[in-house]
Amino acid sequence: MLKENIENIRKQLAGTSCKLVAVTKTHPVEVLMEAYQLGLKVFGENKVQEMVDKAEKLPKDIEWHLIGHLQTNKVKYIAPFVSLIHSVDSLKLLQEINKRAQQNHRVQDCLLQVFIAQEETKFGLSEEELYQLLSSETLPTLQNVRIKGLMGMATNTDHQDQIRQEFRRLKRIFDHVKTTFSGKNVEITELSMGMSSDYPIAIEEGSTIIRVGSAIFGNRNYQNNR
Ligand SMILES: *Cc1c(COP(=O)(O)O)cnc(C)c1O
Repeated sequence: MLKENIENIRKQLAGTSCKLVAVTKTHPVEVLMEAYQLGLKVFGENKVQEMVDKAEKLPKDIEWHLIGHLQTNKVKYIAPFVSLIHSVDSLKLLQEINKRAQQNHRVQDCLLQVFIAQEETKFGLSEEELYQLLSSETLPTLQNVRIKGLMGMATNTDHQDQIRQEFRRLKRIFDHVKTTFSGKNVEITELSMGMSSDYPIAIEEGSTIIRVGSAIFGNRNYQNNR
């Protein structure tokens, strides 16, 4: 199944410059190893501890992406190795990431998470907060972070049209940010949008990174992990 699922997604990505992050949260390392052997090398996790535990047990050439909400006090655990943090939603968090990256002699790639859904539970910056953060005088002083783009999640709905409108809005914001805010540590190239249920739409609307879990690994069992 894993093999067919991966091939199916690869087919849809062929001819685009969009990349795949395999979202491995809740799945055991054996399953991740199987995916690795099928050629997947970029894994996304939403919990710090789970990512650290898995990274210790798996090959070192895997790229680890943190896609879930990140608390300031947990940055230090992932700072030595995380490749891309998709979920930056405050200047305070960015300052902590900068501090920890510096301690590890790294420059940490980050995406700013923008809130585009019609739901109250999702994290992320409003459009206004996004522009405020990008215009902040503090940002250029954070020499150990690099803002590579934006991340967003559409509303969890069956209304394809609504999802498409939300992705389209994020793409417009992305294009605006790309032309308006470039700086020493701001190099906007990546737009992370699209999950199992909506990645085909996201690809059509200009996503450069899709984050796909259940369409690869099947449904998650949340009994032991929420
Ligand atoms: C879990 C998760 C995904 C993947 O969800 P699927 O529906 O399983 O593809 C993508 N992005 C984020 C932020 C997630 O937490």
